[in-house]
Amino acid sequence: MSQIIHFNKTIPSATQPIPLLDLKRQYEHLRDEMSEALRRVNDSGMFVLGPEVKTLEANLAAYSQVEHAVACASGSDALLLSLMAVDIGPGDEVIVPSFTFFATVSAVTRLGAVPVFADVDPVSYNMDLIHVKSLINGRTRAIIPVHLFGQMAAMKELHHIINGRDITIIEDSAQAVGAELDGRRTGGWGDMCALSFYPTKNLGGAGDGGMILTNNAQHAAKLRLLRGHGMEPRYCHSLVGINSRLDSYQAAVLNVKLKYLDQWTTQRSQNAERYAELFAGTGIEEMVTLPQKLPYRRHVWNQYVIRVGNQQRDSLRQALTEAKIGTDIYYPMGVHEQECFRFLGYPPESLPETYHISREVLALPIYPELTEQEQVVIARKICEFCEKEITRKIFPAAKKEAA
Ligand SMILES: *Cc1c(COP(=O)(O)O)cnc(C)c1O
Repeated sequence: MSQIIHFNKTIPSATQPIPLLDLKRQYEHLRDEMSEALRRVNDSGMFVLGPEVKTLEANLAAYSQVEHAVACASGSDALLLSLMAVDIGPGDEVIVPSFTFFATVSAVTRLGAVPVFADVDPVSYNMDLIHVKSLINGRTRAIIPVHLFGQMAAMKELHHIINGRDITIIEDSAQAVGAELDGRRTGGWGDMCALSFYPTKNLGGAGDGGMILTNNAQHAAKLRLLRGHGMEPRYCHSLVGINSRLDSYQAAVLNVKLKYLDQWTTQRSQNAERYAELFAGTGIEEMVTLPQKLPYRRHVWNQYVIRVGNQQRDSLRQALTEAKIGTDIYYPMGVHEQECFRFLGYPPESLPETYHISREVLALPIYPELTEQEQVVIARKICEFCEKEITRKIFPAAKKEAA
């Protein structure tokens, strides 16, 4: 029988489990610095906002090449606060991608506004701008492009489509801190930009956290008010905000981690390149599509998401699980398919790319500390699986033989 898959790397024997993400490996390097940072917070007696948060805001504004940064309690709140800052409410439409994390959309419905779903591009998984263009109307108040998996959406084309209309752009950069397009970082491409510090993000805290970046001083001032109950001065409330402050522990941890972010990003992208090398010439492309880095971009690889055809995604995942290799599915269905959004009236297949992508995607480990040896194990397992499947497809008789 012809050898379809050519995988020549020597395979390391007996392997440890390879989790999808192993934060303990990162912590091992940071233990002392983190303890010192937390001790500083304890000594200061300041636990909410305070100097650590101010420093983090300044650091991330500089890192992201923007004027203002306003920390808050989560990435979800960063999106919610951004919409509140421009008074989005009932009757307003906000265009969002259907293939994203839930919070991109729930921020809109929480304010009584209507999310209008745009399908995504099958190569980048980011919003399909031709579809976006067709959805813009007089009620469109905002658009939330998501930089999914760490790669920036087509922001220049988005501005071109909006063509000067009064529509607020809020970048959902929860997965893409530090990502670039044309050498410019995510943060200043829209009116506001939401970051998340959830532990699985590239810059993850020891709990929840988020931030809004903006170049607009008025937005920044209003966001500061909104995150603290609209209170200024003390016990005087000019508008109804929420309680969404970042605590000092998180900021202290994040100030430590930010110093390493670029190094980690480099390691993530080296890991992505290594997968591409390992799979090159193996023949798996018959079944598996690797993620694409688009031109003019710095991809920060929050996730390495492959696409598995022939309805084999779940079986491949099963095979990897049995080999103790961690994977996950981001996301198993479009947001428009969620039970709580059925009332919006989108049939599952009305956003066809999202529908098909969500049935085929599989995230592989990509974290900075992942070793070459582990990547070889992962790639080998995937090739083995594909070889069996492809052989079965080409030579159906092999199925009986194998059985
Ligand atoms: C993680 C994430 C969020 C929400 O961030 P939290 O900090 O978990 O609230 C929003 N959008 C996207 C695309 C995300 O990945």
